[in-house]
Amino acid sequence: MPATHSTRMLILGSGPAGLSAAIYGARAGMSPIVVQGIQPGGQLMTTTDVENYPGFKDVIQGPWLMEQMQAQAEHVGAQMMWDTIVDIDLSQRPFRLIGDGGTVYTGDTLVIATGAQAKWLGLDSEEALKGKGVSACATCDGFFYRGKKVVVIGGGNTAVEEALYLTNHSHDVTLIHRKDHFRAEKILQERLFKHRGIKVLWNKRVDKFVGGGDPEGLIGLDLIDTVTGEASHIGTDGGFVAIGHHPATELFRGHLELDADSYLKVETGSTRTSVPGVFACGDVMDKIYRQAVTAAGTGCMAALDAERFLAEADFEAVTA
Ligand SMILES: Cc1cc2nc3c(=O)[nH]c(=O)nc-3n(C[C@H](O)[C@H](O)[C@H](O)COP(=O)(O)OP(=O)(O)OC[C@H]3O[C@@H](n4cnc5c(N)ncnc54)[C@H](O)[C@@H]3O)c2cc1C
Repeated sequence: MPATHSTRMLILGSGPAGLSAAIYGARAGMSPIVVQGIQPGGQLMTTTDVENYPGFKDVIQGPWLMEQMQAQAEHVGAQMMWDTIVDIDLSQRPFRLIGDGGTVYTGDTLVIATGAQAKWLGLDSEEALKGKGVSACATCDGFFYRGKKVVVIGGGNTAVEEALYLTNHSHDVTLIHRKDHFRAEKILQERLFKHRGIKVLWNKRVDKFVGGGDPEGLIGLDLIDTVTGEASHIGTDGGFVAIGHHPATELFRGHLELDADSYLKVETGSTRTSVPGVFACGDVMDKIYRQAVTAAGTGCMAALDAERFLAEADFEAVTA
Protein backbone atom coordinates (compact mmCIF):
# COMPACT_ATOMS: atom_id res chain seq x y z
CA MET A 1 0.00 0.00 0.00
CA PRO A 2 1.41 3.44 -0.91
CA ALA A 3 1.83 5.89 1.96
CA THR A 4 -0.89 8.55 2.30
CA HIS A 5 -0.34 12.03 3.75
CA SER A 6 -3.34 14.21 4.51
CA THR A 7 -3.48 17.90 5.35
CA ARG A 8 -5.77 20.92 5.48
CA MET A 9 -3.45 22.66 3.04
CA LEU A 10 -1.37 20.89 0.41
CA ILE A 11 1.23 23.06 -1.33
CA LEU A 12 2.94 22.19 -4.62
CA GLY A 13 6.27 23.94 -5.01
CA SER A 14 8.95 25.19 -2.64
CA GLY A 15 10.00 28.48 -4.23
CA PRO A 16 9.20 31.84 -2.59
CA ALA A 17 5.47 31.44 -3.36
CA GLY A 18 5.08 27.93 -1.91
CA LEU A 19 7.21 28.60 1.16
CA SER A 20 5.45 31.90 1.93
CA ALA A 21 2.10 30.09 1.66
CA ALA A 22 3.54 27.44 4.02
CA ILE A 23 4.60 30.05 6.60
CA TYR A 24 1.16 31.71 6.61
CA GLY A 25 -0.69 28.37 6.43
CA ALA A 26 1.25 26.91 9.35
CA ARG A 27 0.68 30.00 11.47
CA ALA A 28 -3.05 29.74 10.69
CA GLY A 29 -3.07 26.19 12.08
CA MET A 30 -3.51 24.38 8.75
CA SER A 31 -0.47 22.07 9.17
CA PRO A 32 0.63 22.47 5.55
CA ILE A 33 2.50 19.83 3.61
CA VAL A 34 4.85 21.20 0.94
CA VAL A 35 5.68 18.88 -1.96
CA GLN A 36 8.96 20.38 -3.10
CA GLY A 37 9.29 19.11 -6.65
CA ILE A 38 12.51 18.56 -8.57
CA GLN A 39 13.88 21.99 -7.69
CA PRO A 40 13.61 22.39 -3.88
CA GLY A 41 13.87 26.14 -3.20
CA GLY A 42 12.79 27.03 -6.75
CA GLN A 43 14.50 29.25 -9.29
CA LEU A 44 16.50 31.35 -6.83
CA MET A 45 18.59 28.24 -6.12
CA THR A 46 20.11 28.78 -9.58
CA THR A 47 21.34 32.32 -9.00
CA THR A 48 23.96 34.06 -6.91
CA ASP A 49 23.46 37.74 -6.01
CA VAL A 50 19.99 38.93 -5.02
CA GLU A 51 19.83 42.63 -4.34
CA ASN A 52 16.12 43.41 -4.52
CA TYR A 53 14.51 41.19 -1.89
CA PRO A 54 13.39 43.56 0.89
CA GLY A 55 14.93 43.29 4.33
CA PHE A 56 18.61 43.00 3.43
CA LYS A 57 20.87 46.01 2.97
CA ASP A 58 23.74 43.90 1.62
CA VAL A 59 23.61 41.62 -1.41
CA ILE A 60 22.42 38.15 -0.41
CA GLN A 61 22.74 34.82 -2.20
CA GLY A 62 19.65 33.20 -3.75
CA PRO A 63 20.25 29.71 -2.25
CA TRP A 64 20.84 31.23 1.20
CA LEU A 65 17.55 33.17 1.00
CA MET A 66 15.66 30.00 0.10
CA GLU A 67 17.31 28.00 2.91
CA GLN A 68 16.16 30.69 5.33
CA MET A 69 12.60 30.60 3.96
CA GLN A 70 12.46 26.82 4.25
CA ALA A 71 13.87 26.91 7.79
CA GLN A 72 11.25 29.53 8.75
CA ALA A 73 8.42 27.44 7.24
CA GLU A 74 9.60 24.31 9.08
CA HIS A 75 10.08 26.26 12.30
CA VAL A 76 6.42 27.29 12.33
CA GLY A 77 5.25 23.75 11.54
CA ALA A 78 5.19 23.14 7.77
CA GLN A 79 6.23 19.68 6.63
CA MET A 80 8.51 19.30 3.58
CA MET A 81 8.21 16.29 1.28
CA TRP A 82 10.88 15.54 -1.30
CA ASP A 83 8.57 14.39 -4.05
CA THR A 84 7.11 15.54 -7.37
CA ILE A 85 3.42 15.35 -8.17
CA VAL A 86 2.65 13.42 -11.36
CA ASP A 87 -1.14 12.97 -11.21
CA ILE A 88 -4.06 14.90 -9.76
CA ASP A 89 -7.76 14.43 -9.06
CA LEU A 90 -9.53 17.70 -8.31
CA SER A 91 -13.04 16.37 -8.95
CA GLN A 92 -13.87 16.19 -5.25
CA ARG A 93 -12.55 17.32 -1.89
CA PRO A 94 -10.27 16.38 -0.33
CA PHE A 95 -8.19 16.73 -3.48
CA ARG A 96 -6.05 13.69 -4.24
CA LEU A 97 -2.58 13.97 -5.73
CA ILE A 98 -0.02 11.28 -6.51
CA GLY A 99 3.76 11.59 -6.16
CA ASP A 100 6.17 10.02 -8.64
CA GLY A 101 6.83 7.05 -6.31
CA GLY A 102 3.09 6.44 -5.80
CA THR A 103 2.74 8.31 -2.49
CA VAL A 104 -0.78 9.72 -2.11
CA TYR A 105 -1.37 13.27 -0.84
CA THR A 106 -4.81 14.53 0.08
CA GLY A 107 -5.58 18.16 0.81
CA ASP A 108 -8.75 19.94 1.94
CA THR A 109 -7.28 22.84 0.00
CA LEU A 110 -4.56 22.93 -2.64
CA VAL A 111 -2.08 25.76 -3.26
CA ILE A 112 -0.25 25.54 -6.59
CA ALA A 113 3.13 27.31 -6.70
CA THR A 114 4.92 25.39 -9.43
CA GLY A 115 6.53 28.45 -11.07
CA ALA A 116 7.52 29.19 -14.66
CA GLN A 117 10.88 28.48 -16.25
CA ALA A 118 12.56 30.93 -18.62
CA LYS A 119 13.09 29.60 -22.14
CA TRP A 120 16.71 29.52 -23.30
CA LEU A 121 18.29 29.26 -26.72
CA GLY A 122 19.84 25.91 -25.79
CA LEU A 123 23.47 26.66 -26.72
CA ASP A 124 26.33 25.09 -24.71
CA SER A 125 28.03 28.51 -24.54
CA GLU A 126 24.81 30.00 -23.07
CA GLU A 127 24.74 27.33 -20.35
CA ALA A 128 28.44 27.92 -19.57
CA LEU A 129 27.96 31.69 -19.11
CA LYS A 130 24.62 31.74 -17.25
CA GLY A 131 25.08 33.97 -14.22
CA LYS A 132 28.38 35.22 -15.70
CA GLY A 133 26.86 37.80 -18.02
CA VAL A 134 24.05 35.73 -19.51
CA SER A 135 20.66 36.20 -17.86
CA ALA A 136 16.95 35.74 -18.56
CA CYS A 137 15.69 38.50 -16.25
CA ALA A 138 16.41 42.20 -16.76
CA THR A 139 14.45 43.21 -13.64
CA CYS A 140 16.61 40.84 -11.58
CA ASP A 141 20.02 41.52 -13.10
CA GLY A 142 19.82 44.79 -15.09
CA PHE A 143 21.10 46.79 -12.13
CA PHE A 144 24.41 44.91 -12.29
CA TYR A 145 25.03 46.44 -15.76
CA ARG A 146 24.86 50.13 -14.84
CA GLY A 147 26.66 52.14 -17.52
CA LYS A 148 27.60 49.00 -19.44
CA LYS A 149 26.76 47.66 -22.87
CA VAL A 150 23.98 45.06 -23.03
CA VAL A 151 22.12 43.04 -25.65
CA VAL A 152 18.65 41.50 -25.54
CA ILE A 153 17.73 38.50 -27.69
CA GLY A 154 14.12 38.01 -28.82
CA GLY A 155 11.28 39.63 -30.73
CA GLY A 156 8.13 39.37 -28.63
CA ASN A 157 6.69 41.48 -25.81
CA THR A 158 9.19 40.10 -23.28
CA ALA A 159 12.18 41.14 -25.40
CA VAL A 160 10.92 44.65 -26.12
CA GLU A 161 9.94 45.19 -22.47
CA GLU A 162 13.32 43.92 -21.27
CA ALA A 163 15.15 46.23 -23.73
CA LEU A 164 13.10 49.24 -22.59
CA TYR A 165 13.66 48.35 -18.93
CA LEU A 166 17.42 48.07 -19.44
CA THR A 167 17.61 51.68 -20.65
CA ASN A 168 17.18 52.60 -16.96
CA HIS A 169 20.72 51.31 -16.46
CA SER A 170 22.46 51.31 -19.83
CA HIS A 171 22.72 53.86 -22.66
CA ASP A 172 23.83 51.14 -25.07
CA VAL A 173 21.13 48.50 -25.51
CA THR A 174 20.97 46.35 -28.66
CA LEU A 175 17.98 44.16 -29.43
CA ILE A 176 18.86 41.16 -31.60
CA HIS A 177 16.10 39.39 -33.50
CA ARG A 178 16.27 36.54 -35.99
CA LYS A 179 13.50 38.01 -38.18
CA ASP A 180 12.93 41.40 -39.84
CA HIS A 181 9.88 42.29 -37.73
CA PHE A 182 8.78 41.97 -34.10
CA ARG A 183 5.84 39.97 -32.71
CA ALA A 184 5.55 42.47 -29.84
CA GLU A 185 2.46 44.68 -29.46
CA LYS A 186 2.51 47.78 -31.67
CA ILE A 187 2.47 50.18 -28.72
CA LEU A 188 5.61 48.58 -27.27
CA GLN A 189 7.30 48.68 -30.66
CA GLU A 190 6.52 52.40 -30.97
CA ARG A 191 8.12 53.06 -27.59
CA LEU A 192 11.14 51.00 -28.59
CA PHE A 193 11.68 52.68 -31.97
CA LYS A 194 11.40 56.15 -30.38
CA HIS A 195 14.05 55.33 -27.80
CA ARG A 196 17.47 56.70 -28.74
CA GLY A 197 19.33 54.33 -26.42
CA ILE A 198 18.18 51.16 -28.23
CA LYS A 199 19.54 49.80 -31.51
CA VAL A 200 17.97 46.85 -33.35
CA LEU A 201 19.91 44.16 -35.23
CA TRP A 202 17.48 42.39 -37.58
CA ASN A 203 17.86 38.91 -39.09
CA LYS A 204 20.56 37.75 -36.70
CA ARG A 205 20.71 34.56 -34.65
CA VAL A 206 23.16 33.89 -31.85
CA ASP A 207 25.74 31.30 -32.83
CA LYS A 208 27.81 31.52 -29.65
CA PHE A 209 28.06 33.44 -26.38
CA VAL A 210 31.74 34.32 -26.10
CA GLY A 211 33.45 34.36 -22.71
CA GLY A 212 36.71 35.99 -21.67
CA GLY A 213 38.57 37.67 -18.83
CA ASP A 214 39.47 36.39 -15.38
CA PRO A 215 37.13 35.53 -13.74
CA GLU A 216 35.45 34.54 -16.98
CA GLY A 217 32.43 36.53 -18.07
CA LEU A 218 30.51 37.31 -21.24
CA ILE A 219 32.46 39.58 -23.59
CA GLY A 220 30.49 39.23 -26.81
CA LEU A 221 28.23 37.26 -29.11
CA ASP A 222 29.02 35.56 -32.42
CA LEU A 223 26.06 36.11 -34.76
CA ILE A 224 24.89 34.63 -38.05
CA ASP A 225 22.72 36.57 -40.49
CA THR A 226 19.57 34.47 -41.04
CA VAL A 227 19.20 35.76 -44.64
CA THR A 228 22.77 35.92 -45.98
CA GLY A 229 24.51 33.48 -43.62
CA GLU A 230 27.19 36.09 -42.96
CA ALA A 231 29.02 35.81 -39.61
CA SER A 232 29.56 38.83 -37.34
CA HIS A 233 30.48 39.63 -33.75
CA ILE A 234 29.12 42.11 -31.22
CA GLY A 235 30.97 42.98 -28.02
CA THR A 236 28.84 43.23 -24.87
CA ASP A 237 28.97 43.03 -21.08
CA GLY A 238 25.53 41.46 -20.58
CA GLY A 239 23.28 39.24 -22.69
CA PHE A 240 19.58 38.93 -21.82
CA VAL A 241 17.72 36.03 -23.40
CA ALA A 242 14.09 37.14 -23.61
CA ILE A 243 12.19 34.54 -25.60
CA GLY A 244 9.42 33.80 -23.09
CA HIS A 245 8.64 31.45 -20.21
CA HIS A 246 7.10 27.98 -19.74
CA PRO A 247 4.65 27.98 -16.82
CA ALA A 248 4.69 24.57 -15.09
CA THR A 249 1.02 23.83 -15.75
CA GLU A 250 0.92 20.69 -17.93
CA LEU A 251 -0.30 18.70 -14.93
CA PHE A 252 -3.34 20.95 -14.56
CA ARG A 253 -4.46 21.08 -18.20
CA GLY A 254 -8.05 19.80 -18.37
CA HIS A 255 -8.47 20.22 -14.60
CA LEU A 256 -8.09 24.00 -14.16
CA GLU A 257 -8.59 26.94 -16.50
CA LEU A 258 -5.40 28.17 -18.19
CA ASP A 259 -4.98 31.36 -20.20
CA ALA A 260 -3.78 31.54 -23.82
CA ASP A 261 -0.14 31.39 -22.65
CA SER A 262 -0.82 28.37 -20.38
CA TYR A 263 -0.62 30.32 -17.10
CA LEU A 264 -3.14 29.34 -14.39
CA LYS A 265 -6.13 31.68 -14.43
CA VAL A 266 -7.10 33.28 -11.12
CA GLU A 267 -9.94 35.65 -10.23
CA THR A 268 -8.66 39.23 -10.36
CA GLY A 269 -7.38 40.40 -6.99
CA SER A 270 -7.33 36.89 -5.51
CA THR A 271 -5.57 33.54 -5.92
CA ARG A 272 -8.79 31.58 -6.54
CA THR A 273 -8.61 29.27 -9.58
CA SER A 274 -11.53 27.82 -11.52
CA VAL A 275 -11.96 25.02 -8.93
CA PRO A 276 -13.17 26.11 -5.45
CA GLY A 277 -10.55 25.25 -2.85
CA VAL A 278 -7.64 25.34 -5.33
CA PHE A 279 -5.43 28.45 -5.23
CA ALA A 280 -2.49 29.51 -7.38
CA CYS A 281 0.38 31.85 -6.53
CA GLY A 282 3.75 33.00 -7.81
CA ASP A 283 5.09 32.79 -11.36
CA VAL A 284 2.67 30.02 -12.36
CA MET A 285 -0.16 32.59 -12.38
CA ASP A 286 1.84 35.79 -12.96
CA LYS A 287 3.31 36.50 -16.37
CA ILE A 288 3.92 40.17 -15.67
CA TYR A 289 6.04 40.67 -12.54
CA ARG A 290 7.83 37.30 -12.02
CA GLN A 291 9.84 38.37 -8.97
CA ALA A 292 10.64 36.61 -5.70
CA VAL A 293 8.88 39.29 -3.69
CA THR A 294 5.70 39.18 -5.79
CA ALA A 295 5.75 35.37 -5.62
CA ALA A 296 6.07 35.58 -1.82
CA GLY A 297 3.25 38.17 -1.72
CA THR A 298 0.84 36.03 -3.71
CA GLY A 299 1.91 33.00 -1.63
CA CYS A 300 0.71 34.87 1.45
CA MET A 301 -2.55 35.69 -0.37
CA ALA A 302 -3.08 32.03 -1.33
CA ALA A 303 -2.71 30.87 2.28
CA LEU A 304 -5.14 33.54 3.49
CA ASP A 305 -7.61 32.66 0.70
CA ALA A 306 -7.32 28.95 1.60
CA GLU A 307 -7.82 29.65 5.30
CA ARG A 308 -10.98 31.71 4.56
CA PHE A 309 -12.29 29.05 2.20
CA LEU A 310 -11.95 26.38 4.91
CA ALA A 311 -13.47 28.62 7.59
CA GLU A 312 -16.53 29.20 5.34
CA ALA A 313 -16.79 25.49 4.45
CA ASP A 314 -16.54 24.52 8.15
CA PHE A 315 -19.21 27.11 9.06
CA GLU A 316 -21.56 25.81 6.35
CA ALA A 317 -21.03 22.22 7.54
CA VAL A 318 -21.90 23.17 11.14
CA THR A 319 -24.98 25.22 10.23
CA ALA A 320 -26.32 22.83 7.52
C1 LIG B 1 18.74 33.02 -12.61
C2 LIG B 1 17.56 33.74 -11.96
C3 LIG B 1 17.81 34.85 -11.18
C4 LIG B 1 16.75 35.51 -10.56
N1 LIG B 1 17.02 36.60 -9.78
C5 LIG B 1 16.03 37.21 -9.13
C6 LIG B 1 16.29 38.31 -8.27
O1 LIG B 1 17.43 38.76 -8.14
N2 LIG B 1 15.23 38.89 -7.62
C7 LIG B 1 13.94 38.42 -7.79
O2 LIG B 1 13.02 38.96 -7.15
N3 LIG B 1 13.67 37.39 -8.60
C8 LIG B 1 14.66 36.78 -9.27
N4 LIG B 1 14.39 35.74 -10.12
C9 LIG B 1 12.98 35.36 -10.33
C10 LIG B 1 12.50 34.51 -9.13
O3 LIG B 1 13.41 33.47 -8.92
C11 LIG B 1 11.10 33.97 -9.42
O4 LIG B 1 10.22 35.05 -9.70
C12 LIG B 1 10.59 33.20 -8.22
O5 LIG B 1 11.47 32.16 -7.87
C13 LIG B 1 9.20 32.61 -8.49
O6 LIG B 1 8.83 31.90 -7.36
P1 LIG B 1 7.75 30.73 -7.41
O7 LIG B 1 7.66 30.23 -6.01
O8 LIG B 1 6.52 31.21 -8.07
O9 LIG B 1 8.34 29.62 -8.38
P2 LIG B 1 9.75 28.89 -8.46
O10 LIG B 1 10.80 29.58 -7.71
O11 LIG B 1 9.95 28.64 -9.91
O12 LIG B 1 9.47 27.48 -7.75
C14 LIG B 1 8.66 26.51 -8.35
C15 LIG B 1 8.65 25.29 -7.46
O13 LIG B 1 7.66 24.37 -7.95
C16 LIG B 1 8.18 23.06 -7.84
N5 LIG B 1 7.42 22.20 -8.76
C17 LIG B 1 7.27 22.32 -10.09
N6 LIG B 1 6.51 21.30 -10.56
C18 LIG B 1 6.16 20.54 -9.48
C19 LIG B 1 5.40 19.36 -9.31
N7 LIG B 1 4.85 18.71 -10.35
N8 LIG B 1 5.27 18.85 -8.06
C20 LIG B 1 5.81 19.48 -7.00
N9 LIG B 1 6.53 20.61 -7.10
C21 LIG B 1 6.72 21.12 -8.33
C22 LIG B 1 9.65 23.23 -8.16
O14 LIG B 1 10.41 22.13 -7.69
C23 LIG B 1 9.95 24.52 -7.39
O15 LIG B 1 10.25 24.22 -6.05
C24 LIG B 1 15.42 35.05 -10.74
C25 LIG B 1 15.17 33.92 -11.54
C26 LIG B 1 16.23 33.26 -12.14
C27 LIG B 1 15.95 32.03 -12.98
